[in-house]
Amino acid sequence: MTAPTGPTRLLDASGGADVVGLDAHLARWGALPDVSPKVLLDAVDRSGLRGHGGAWFPVGTKWRAVAGSGRSKPVVVANGAEGEPASGKDRYLLHHSPHLVLDGAAAAARAIGTDRVIVHVTAGPVAGVHAALAERARRRVDTCSFEVVVAPDRFLSGQESAAVATVNGRNPGIPTFVGIRSVRDQGVAGRPTLVQNVETLAHAALIARYGPEWFRSVGTADSPGTALLTVTGRWEAPRIVEVPYGTTLGKALGIDAGAAAGIQAVLLGGYGGGWLPTSTALTMPFTEESARGHGSSLGAGVVVLLPTGVCPLAEAARVVRYLEGEGAGQCGPCVNGLDVLATSMEHLAYRPRSLRGGVAALPTLCGLVEGRGACHHPDGVARFVRTAVDAFGDHAALHLSRGPCQTTRPFLSVPAPAASVAR
Ligand code: SF4
Repeated sequence: MTAPTGPTRLLDASGGADVVGLDAHLARWGALPDVSPKVLLDAVDRSGLRGHGGAWFPVGTKWRAVAGSGRSKPVVVANGAEGEPASGKDRYLLHHSPHLVLDGAAAAARAIGTDRVIVHVTAGPVAGVHAALAERARRRVDTCSFEVVVAPDRFLSGQESAAVATVNGRNPGIPTFVGIRSVRDQGVAGRPTLVQNVETLAHAALIARYGPEWFRSVGTADSPGTALLTVTGRWEAPRIVEVPYGTTLGKALGIDAGAAAGIQAVLLGGYGGGWLPTSTALTMPFTEESARGHGSSLGAGVVVLLPTGVCPLAEAARVVRYLEGEGAGQCGPCVNGLDVLATSMEHLAYRPRSLRGGVAALPTLCGLVEGRGACHHPDGVARFVRTAVDAFGDHAALHLSRGPCQTTRPFLSVPAPAASVAR
């Protein structure tokens, strides 16, 4: 079966189909090659594949750590619990090309020496995943066994320790403080556990077929391959696109100077990511290194183009209040710090003259929560606030001098408070 030659890889097999069934999948990609764990681990290592769930961790290193971490048989968790409200690429991939994800999970299981795979997804994709697994079982595609576990619809459901908590049936969707041990040593049922994002697994399924050199034939040396993005604000409705790393967003999304003039700023990486000035976001090389160099992250591939005519401070305040409600209330920054940050953002957005200390107080508050949680949730909220203050500084000055915007048409997707964690 021929390897894709262009920048479209994971979405290559669609042929316009809504769901790529097993026959179409095998016709396009063929069966997963029957190779040894060593060959798989070497291929993933040399490919330079990184995690596409947001952590950007080297996948080969993670697989080797789980493979060699203990005496009990490991477990693979194929993680499609996409809690980020502005992201839809994992749900899309699971719906559209479930067999690519399941092939990647089977390859991971073989590489780390297990036959147990748990597919961890929110309720939306469950029926499609069950249908795909039934097709594979009928045709005896797999040597490993699959289970499906439904994740709660929460922002942090996909966080590694939260996913394991859900599978273990204790505090579903809530990160767990595990001290010096990680889920790689002690996860599902106390076993070494590989929690891997579903897009990452789909890339691994293609690396297993076509090898690391093919994978590196697009992208850059440090950010090889392609990424699925959930893009909001470019078209009438959010859209999933696949882009090669190293290109620019302006080119990938076909945004010319005229269209760029209608964009206030760009949010990269989602609600735990950061805001960038439009010109920077559209012209910098689209890589994790560039995003980090500008104080953001590509996260799980969320791109939001915020249009003019929307109050960015009201949008940011809504998001920070939502994120505050999604903290698990276990650590100091979530218990004490995030509410203060959310309240300060609400002051700036709606009652700017009651913001004590002015805009300068916000980065100071961010410093009080950064690096102090058991997980990175407070760090993500702080990054969102810091970059909003930078990107919308002029708008904040207008609020402070003239008062808040009168029209606050909501633009960003923010779930209703009822979806937040009850505390
Ligand atoms: S930092 Fe917040 S979200 Fe993370 S484990 Fe602690 S309480 Fe939970």
